Amino acid sequence: MADAQPIRPEPLKPSHTNDCANEAMSKPLLRLQAVHKRFVAHHAVRGVDLDVAAGEFLAIMGPSGCGKSTLLRLMAGLETPTSGLIEIGGRDMQGVPVSERETPMVWQSLALFPFLNVRENVEFPLRMKGVAVTQRRKRAMEWLARMGLETMAERSIQQLSGGQRQRVAIARALVTEPPILLLDEPLSALDAHLRVRMQSELARLHKELHITFIYVTHAQSEAFALADRIALMSDGVIAQQGKPQDIYRFPANPFVAEFIGLNNLVRGQVIEVRDSAGQLVLAVRSEVGEFVVPTLEPPMLGSARSFVIAADRVMLEPVEQADASALQGTVIGIEFVGATQTVFVDVDGKAELRVQKQQHEIDSIGLVPGRRVAVRWDARHTWLLPSSD
Ligand code: ATP
Repeated sequence: MADAQPIRPEPLKPSHTNDCANEAMSKPLLRLQAVHKRFVAHHAVRGVDLDVAAGEFLAIMGPSGCGKSTLLRLMAGLETPTSGLIEIGGRDMQGVPVSERETPMVWQSLALFPFLNVRENVEFPLRMKGVAVTQRRKRAMEWLARMGLETMAERSIQQLSGGQRQRVAIARALVTEPPILLLDEPLSALDAHLRVRMQSELARLHKELHITFIYVTHAQSEAFALADRIALMSDGVIAQQGKPQDIYRFPANPFVAEFIGLNNLVRGQVIEVRDSAGQLVLAVRSEVGEFVVPTLEPPMLGSARSFVIAADRVMLEPVEQADASALQGTVIGIEFVGATQTVFVDVDGKAELRVQKQQHEIDSIGLVPGRRVAVRWDARHTWLLPSSD
């Protein structure tokens, strides 16, 4: 059986309990209960329950078409739920017009007014609220200064770069100091360099302002870097919500494990349940071998269960150094992804494992396509998926 290393009595556990967060969440700023949105031909949101605390940074992720933008538009009041409850600050939002919601939204397309200059764009929401000219001008200039755009106040929108326009859009959304800012893929039109810069600006703004940010993105790196919590959607439902590190290390089901993309999912059957030094462990038989997996709950013997092992937890070594019973495979590709590289290992045509390694590790093992390698991991780093496939 692969990896029979001693197992610590306490396996890694998701950080579900956080007293401060739980306390804040007893009075969420935004609450969605059993929210559905059905378009004529499509049921886009199917019974979403979601609480968002004041000051939280929530990222909503998921594959294209899973309902992320629809959910955000429901929060903004740009769509009406077919059924369900949306509350902001304890107030039922049913029938409350967009203008009264204080949930401005920043889009990828920005939707800035081309016929207004930079300052007038930022002043616009205050003008709609009837704020006096001098006051709204002062506040718009303060926001432009905060975004490093004060010298561009009189420019037309067409005279700005993509990053500058993005900052104008954010200033315009925040000038009224709303409790919630909704962002729908706000950085996806920017180049990689600018994205990273804007990402830190968003993090800084969120920290300074304590406004709740709800942020739809396709970019996992952005969600992981910025969010306190991630809600991962699949086909109109939230497949899992939790801290980024919990979503990554402790996926709730195969969809989440595979969506995160840095996990290896091993499907198998429980062939043994036993106690190992006070820790319940399973033997799982899969196509590629038998593995030890710690568990918190005893599953049924013979049941189909999957476990994940994260790509950065897999160890590779030259076959000559490994014991004869070790799992072996062939390197079929090495993908450059920056500081780390992804090594793809084919296990005799039965599974393809992803392994993250740094260049110096790749060099020291002599990993090249075609090389046979031994593959192992510490059983403590595996995570049994709570649900079966
Ligand atoms: P993407 O990542 O591609 O932007 P998404 O997760 O944001 O996708 P939504 O835009 O929320 O997805 O759309 C969810 C589903 O609802 C899609 O199948 C879409 O075609 C459908 N949909 C969205 N808006 C409407 C509409 N106004 N009328 C009919 N169907 C719609």
